Order: sequence, then C-alpha cells, then structure tokens
Amino acid sequence: WAVTRGMEKGYFARREFSFTLRDDIYVRYQSFERPQDLEKELQKACPYKVDIGAVYSHRPSQHNTLRSGAFQAQEKELVFDVDMTDYDDVRGCCSSAEICSKCWTLMTIAIRILDRALVEDLGVQHRLWVYSGRRGVHCWVCDDTVRKWSSSLRSSIVDYLSLVKGGADTVKKVHLSDPVHPFISKSLRLVEEYFEQYALLGQDILGCRESWDKVLALVPDRPPLREQLQQDFPRKRDSVQRWARLKALSSSSSKKLPSYTEQEIMLQFCFPRLDGNVSKGLNHLLKSPFSVHPKTGRISVPIDIQRLEQFDPFAVPTISSLCRELDEANDEDKDKENEEDPESRRRVRDYKRTSLAPYVRVFECFVEDMERARRGELLRRSDLQGDF
Ligand SMILES: [Zn+2]
Repeated sequence: WAVTRGMEKGYFARREFSFTLRDDIYVRYQSFERPQDLEKELQKACPYKVDIGAVYSHRPSQHNTLRSGAFQAQEKELVFDVDMTDYDDVRGCCSSAEICSKCWTLMTIAIRILDRALVEDLGVQHRLWVYSGRRGVHCWVCDDTVRKWSSSLRSSIVDYLSLVKGGADTVKKVHLSDPVHPFISKSLRLVEEYFEQYALLGQDILGCRESWDKVLALVPDRPPLREQLQQDFPRKRDSVQRWARLKALSSSSSKKLPSYTEQEIMLQFCFPRLDGNVSKGLNHLLKSPFSVHPKTGRISVPIDIQRLEQFDPFAVPTISSLCRELDEANDEDKDKENEEDPESRRRVRDYKRTSLAPYVRVFECFVEDMERARRGELLRRSDLQGDF
C-alpha cells in the first residue's frame, strides 16, 4: 500500500485491474476505492491471474455509465515485454516456450541493454524488472513523468530501442550504416561481453555446416568473402576459431566501404527483441508482479538487477514450494508451542518465512526509492512556492 502514499487523491480508484478466473473467464475494468478493497476482492474471487491496466479519467468499474468517448486512459507505467519465443531463429538449445540456462543469457543481455538505455539515454529513474514466470521478462518504468507519456511517444521509444527487423522470412534482420548511433555502439559493447561464451561456446553457432550456413547467409554475398569462408571453416577446429577467421576476412575484404558484418551478426543473435505492442498502447494490460504463472506454477518475481547474473529462473519459488514452506513453518510453530511462552514469539508475516522474502525485499526497495523521490519532489515544489 506504500505505493499509494502521497499519491493524488482518487488515483488508485481510477486504476484498472483485470482478473482471470477459473475456466479462463476474463473480467476487465475492475477498480477499487482503496488498496484494502482490492485485497478483500482478491481473497474472495481467488483469481488465477491479475493484470494491471491504465489509470483512467473515471473509475473503470463505472465505464458503462459514461457517454461514449468520455472514458479515457490517462496514465500508465511504460512497460516492456521481452519473450524468448521471439528468439527462436537464433537459439539452438530450445524452442517456443522452453528455456534453459544457456538461452537465459539472452534475457540477461536484453535487461542490460534496455536498462542502460532507459537510464542513460532516456533519463528515467524508477524501473522494476520482473521475471514473467515462464520464458521472459517484463519491465515497469514508473517515473511520474513517464506514466503521463502519450502512445505516440511510447511508440517512438519502442522504435528507438528496436534494431532486429523482419519476421520469419527475413534472413538478414540487422543493417548498420555509418555513422553508428551511440545507442547501438554502447549496446554492442554489452553484447561483446557475452558473445564468445554465449554464442560461440554455448550455442556453438559455427559448430557444424548446418549452423554456420545460417551465419554465412548474413555475410555479404560478394566474392571472395562468403566462398572463402565456406572453404576455410571445415579446416578450423571450433566456433571460436571460425569466428576469428570471419572477423579477420570481413574487415580486410572491404577497404573502401565500412563493413559491419561482424557487428550485424552479433546483434542479430543477441540484441533484445521487444514485443512493441505491449509498450505502445496506454490501455494494454500486463500481468501483475507476484502472480503465479498458470503453466509453470512459478511466481513472477522482481529481479534484482544489481545481481542480475546470479538470477536463476529455475530457482524462483513456485506455488507448491511456497505452500510446503508455509506448512513446515506451521509445524515448527506447533512444536515450539509447548516449550515457549507464547508471548515471547513475535508474529512474523507469512511470506517472510518463505523463499519469497528476498524477492519481496527487491520490490520494497523499488517502492522506497519511489517514495523518497516523491517526497523530494513535493519539498522542492513547496520551496518554489515559498510556503515551506
Ligand atoms: Zn535454451
């Protein structure tokens, strides 16, 4: 509830929530006077999934009573959705909804590239990164100013952050030209940190003819480059050696024209692939953090980006592991009841006795930062008005 402290009056009541109930019954436009009312309804309805939508001009629960056109989405967090299925053409380890520790590196790279750009290029401050519970990540950008951004501004930002273009039938999806934008060169530097370990050793993208043909399709078809590499590759020992050969040849074969072949390949394999529609619209809903993923049972937990490399999607709590932990905590209580004076045992909130606790802490830190910034802004404004 801390999130609503110091907020404009009535703001919470104008926020849309939607519930997915049993048998995929989807209920949109729910709104609640106070956070406590949402809590009560959650306990009563036990939704399978909760989505968070925009803040509207009027209470969403009353949208039917208004004349058409009056009910408008006014504010929403800027959200991003990166989904591993969009990388199926460049990962050999898994496909569709599957993920493994190898391809999870793609999510780590996506978070680092997007988070850097959000902070350094776009000047935003409050970002919450969340594991979706299955195969991707979400980002919630919550700055006061950002929440007011229009759809067209959000679309421009998605364009700015998108580089991999074209669907399944597009072979070459990244094209660089001189001069390379600083956003791209900074992103490349991040990709370079991972490329050998992830793409050459992990995915082994030049390991056999079948896979190196896919990479060579991205090399400009100008003699003697592609043919030369086709000849050289079988004589090299592994992906690392073959990549070194590709780098050496592509930089020496183009004395006149700047060539970005090597960089374009790296970006096509590693650069974040956004689901733009989720970010563009103000009235698009996104699954609430801490939901249980219906397919995996995993909790959609916030990611501590200070410890991003340690985040393990397979280690996050599931609904069944949480139930087990709570039962065990209860059993311990019963054992202790006879030994201890009941008053000496302080009641600890249930989640703190489970493996969810560190993830809740990440969320609390995020909220505390926002509160601090809001207090600072209120002080600054009252100073300006000279009535402080
Ligand atoms: Zn994988």
